[in-house]
Amino acid sequence: MQDLRDRLTRITHLGQAAAILEWDMETYMPEGGADARASQVATLRSMAHELLTANETVTLLENARPESDIDLDLVRIVKRDVAKATKVPSKLVAAMAEAAGRAKGAWQKARATNDFPLFAPHLERIVDLSRQHADALGYADQPYDALLDQYEEGASTRQVADVFEKVRLELVPIVQAIQAAAPLDESPVHRAFPLDRQWSFGLDMVQRMGYDLHHGRQDVSTHPFSTSFSISDVRITTRSEEHFFNPAFFGTLHEAGHAMYEQGIDRALEGLPLADGTSLGIHESQSRMWENLVGRSRAFWTYAWPLARQTFPESLANTTQEDFYRAINAVKPSTIRVEADEVTYNLHIMLRFELEQEIISGRIAIKDLPEAWNERMVSWLGVRPESDTEGVLQDIHWSLGAIGYFPTYALGNLMSVQLFEAARRDLGDLEGPVSRGDFAPLLGWLRTNVHQWGRRRSADEILRSATGSPLSAEPWLAYARAKFGNLYGF
Ligand code: ZN
Repeated sequence: MQDLRDRLTRITHLGQAAAILEWDMETYMPEGGADARASQVATLRSMAHELLTANETVTLLENARPESDIDLDLVRIVKRDVAKATKVPSKLVAAMAEAAGRAKGAWQKARATNDFPLFAPHLERIVDLSRQHADALGYADQPYDALLDQYEEGASTRQVADVFEKVRLELVPIVQAIQAAAPLDESPVHRAFPLDRQWSFGLDMVQRMGYDLHHGRQDVSTHPFSTSFSISDVRITTRSEEHFFNPAFFGTLHEAGHAMYEQGIDRALEGLPLADGTSLGIHESQSRMWENLVGRSRAFWTYAWPLARQTFPESLANTTQEDFYRAINAVKPSTIRVEADEVTYNLHIMLRFELEQEIISGRIAIKDLPEAWNERMVSWLGVRPESDTEGVLQDIHWSLGAIGYFPTYALGNLMSVQLFEAARRDLGDLEGPVSRGDFAPLLGWLRTNVHQWGRRRSADEILRSATGSPLSAEPWLAYARAKFGNLYGF
């Protein structure tokens, strides 16, 4: 068991070193370093892959004598990891890492200059490698199943499509009711918010929520993310706009929600492949909970409003707490996913979920993707991107080779409300403590029911043990009807 643990820890360290190189790529690395860096990351990733799938690992797993529940879970889960990794040739793993490294540089340039044709050949290559990847992994129904399973283990395309359709059937009337109602005044969040104060206000707030800066830090990147180098070093990035309060503040809450999950993993799992989020859906449920269910609630602003007024006295002097609450919750279909409101966000995800299936199956050619994107934006959200930068080029994911990732965002939205309702049921009162700036009861509940387990419990096991139910669209729909019915008077 000890030999197995030592070997797995070495593999984990290689992955963590690659994560540091990738973090640097997003935050500090000069643009010209991209190609060399892509090769370095590919080297580390393929070394980890070779060590994991080597005969020595298989022998250690077969001969291991588990002495604890953690050992039992470790052997069970790593056996599954090895079985999956063995299906993928290390040459393909290295090719995907290298293609992604190059594509990301091209995507950044294409996005900055609104030049989709510059990115298209890279995306072409990524789609081709993704098809090879799906074939190597195997699938029951369609190639997209294999890609989705990488991020949301156990989920199938068909299941996800069914759940999304339930949401969409109810979302459309909700969006229609909102569009028929008088719009909320968004001007309170569009005043001047000095960038340095946005930075410190967000960081101060997530520390109060429980993000531990002794084991974390915040930097700037084009697309905000969180990343873990160990349970004791979990970082976030943010970006800000001077005349828009929401991106930096709610982005910081979002990424800190991810980071608090990783910081809350049982320290006994440090260095082991169990010390990770169990699925991206569960991961996203944590970020969405702090961003939306806490950060966009009346209870939270009862606490945070005086602090916000102190921090931004010039901009907020003539605004009431209720006006501010309404401004941060305004629903308005827009072209940009990361700035989308809680109501329309899921439609942005469904669009990507469908287009991904279509480019993988070949039903849509890469060159036709911008137009297919724009047409669906018009028919689902009623808005047309003015450029590809605001359309098909807005997200980093495809350039990273992450096809099958997007649906986990909407799954996370659904799971966040399921878990939040279970926390309220168990704790009796959530809004009271939050309105006094006491986030410990909620964070403690999440530590116990979600965070500590790392990968030891699957997404489905987390949901069933914490809430008593499997994944369901209904809690999110009930939440959306109640909250936005109240805001928009329907
Ligand atoms: Zn997220």
